[in-house]
Amino acid sequence: MQCPECGGSHIRKNGTKKGKQNHICVDCGRQFIDQYGQCS
Ligand SMILES: [Zn+2]
Repeated sequence: MQCPECGGSHIRKNGTKKGKQNHICVDCGRQFIDQYGQCS
């Protein structure tokens, strides 16, 4: 998984939003929902 903002791979889980896993980029602070398919 990569950050859609900076392309970094330093991602942390940031809880869930509306039942979807939310993530945050440690490098730039961008928050985003996992939308690139499930491969966990
Ligand atoms: Zn980022």
